[in-house]
Amino acid sequence: MSAPDSVLPNFSHIYIEEGAERYSLTESILSKFPNAIRIAVHHYKDIFNRPQQNFQSQKRSMKLILAVKKDHLLYDGSEFSQSMGHDNFYYNSMMLNCVYNCDYCYLQGMYGSANMVIFVNSDDFFSAVVEKLQKPMCLAISYDTDLLAFENVVPLCSQWIEFARIQPNLIIEIRTKSANFKSIRSLAPCDRVILAWTMSPDEVVERYEKGTPPLKRRIAAAKEAVDCGWKVRACFDPVIRIDHWEKHYTQCVQTVFEKLDAEKLHDVSAGVFRMNADYLRKIRKQRNDSDVLYHSYVFDGNAASYPDVIRMEMHAFMKSLLFQYLPSTKVFI
Ligand code: SF4
Repeated sequence: MSAPDSVLPNFSHIYIEEGAERYSLTESILSKFPNAIRIAVHHYKDIFNRPQQNFQSQKRSMKLILAVKKDHLLYDGSEFSQSMGHDNFYYNSMMLNCVYNCDYCYLQGMYGSANMVIFVNSDDFFSAVVEKLQKPMCLAISYDTDLLAFENVVPLCSQWIEFARIQPNLIIEIRTKSANFKSIRSLAPCDRVILAWTMSPDEVVERYEKGTPPLKRRIAAAKEAVDCGWKVRACFDPVIRIDHWEKHYTQCVQTVFEKLDAEKLHDVSAGVFRMNADYLRKIRKQRNDSDVLYHSYVFDGNAASYPDVIRMEMHAFMKSLLFQYLPSTKVFI
């Protein structure tokens, strides 16, 4: 999480929205950065939504913004996400942006700023979920971010795990590329929580997933979670058509199943690279330094992805690969 020498370190400044100072989470986060300069602001959007910001410049020295979210505490599952067989699929965003900086990340197109916003009013997020829990719900809590990677700063995964433990109608998914299972290792495993690790070939990690742990560390973290009794999902998503992609994804899947017992995995998912078309157009205007953004994708309505024939070929390939290890009922593509 360190920044290059020529710029200020990450989180050198912390902006605090009016009212956010009253929450215990704010106090706890501030205690992690005793030397940070604190700046009071009226509304988090005064900082986060300023015009003319440069996402990648800000990534070199991210700031924190602590705020209170007053609306949109729960979203219907997006068309770009997988519902994993759940009819009632939702996601929420307690954190905007991510400590990592994947070249293909749609957050660069979604937000003008790379600074990280943490909403400190967890109880309001819990209440929004409780209101909808008359029927079983699946909730992705680390959908637009990587909560586990930031767990040492703000223990949101722990809070949600304890919340899920007492909500019989709730399943939560915590998706991550981090190796930070140790931050929740002391918690008793919870049947209503799925820890989902994104598994990528090292070629993809090195080229496109800046700042993330290598595959072997993600696998080691997932294995530890399985051994401790957690439900673990392995996600091969996004599959990216790099040179010799079949070879790299075959090796990646093999490596995962050499270390993880397929029978002990909750399930696996795979998905080919896709992005909201407007976000991709916006990102392309901002940067030309990553070829993953400039593949000849097809823009079809809201979505940008590989041409249909290629997408189907990639899906079929991943399916046949994963079916070697798991029954079709445990593979979501
Ligand atoms: S880990 Fe996910 S949310 Fe974070 S930068 Fe990468 S793609 Fe974006």
